[in-house]
Amino acid sequence: MKAASILQTGIEKLAQAGIENPRLDARLLLEHATKLSQAEILRDQDLAISEANIKTFFNLIKKRSQHIPLAYLTKHKEFFGYDFMVSKSVLIPRPETEILVEWTRELLQNINGKKDKIKIADIGTGSGAIIISLALTLNNNDKYELIATDLSKKALFIAEKNAAKHNVKIKFYNCDLAKILPNDLDMVISNPPYLSEAELENCQLEIKFEPELALNGGIDGLSVYRNLLYQLKVKMNRDGQILLECAPSQTKEIIKIAKKVWPLCGTEIRPDLAGLDRCLRISNLC
Ligand code: GLN
Repeated sequence: MKAASILQTGIEKLAQAGIENPRLDARLLLEHATKLSQAEILRDQDLAISEANIKTFFNLIKKRSQHIPLAYLTKHKEFFGYDFMVSKSVLIPRPETEILVEWTRELLQNINGKKDKIKIADIGTGSGAIIISLALTLNNNDKYELIATDLSKKALFIAEKNAAKHNVKIKFYNCDLAKILPNDLDMVISNPPYLSEAELENCQLEIKFEPELALNGGIDGLSVYRNLLYQLKVKMNRDGQILLECAPSQTKEIIKIAKKVWPLCGTEIRPDLAGLDRCLRISNLC
């Protein structure tokens, strides 16, 4: 069978199943199944595809038709311009989370001259996308001690593989949030689970394939922020800063929790590209 007709059949099957971008997804799955690049497939529409690859492709199309996220089928996701390996044990990195990386980089420029060593921890690292992207874009790597934690050993396995693939040095800890981390952290970054149980129940079908541990923020979606901020009370340097991703509806409540932990703390909110409040910075931790 020829590439063009296989691709067309795949597109039709995905469209019938209500997949949002059937053309793009079918193309990426064909590339994945055949290990051919887009250019190779496009160059020769008459390209013959082997029986084995056709079988793999339609198998993937079947899975995608059940709304299994594309990234879990190709086992890759791009984040901050880098390629990350993903498995069903990790949340698929989202574009809005790139704000956390950008903001951290900006803040680091301000403290760079003031400290010899800067300790940065990514809590609930999942695939490691945040801390690894940060590591890849920092210039003087010796200046930073990069730490990442996750409660899930399976997630840490993926994060460690990603760190090795990108050749960056990060200390990984398997623990509940920041529990076993040192108490002199300069910067904490986290995209914790923040969907409420009701939101999780009603979320898109695709999200239901992602690990509940990475999404479920308890009854009101805030329980992980509560635990994290109370743990961080004794873990942060006084001039330290915390950057959190959150749902737009949650920022006020998280600020209330932060003020209980550090009554004098300062807070700042940043919107995502859709203009929704997505990230929160907590500083002045005394
Ligand atoms: N942004 C994710 C979503 O809405 C949730 C991620 C999280 O809970 N940290 O699907």
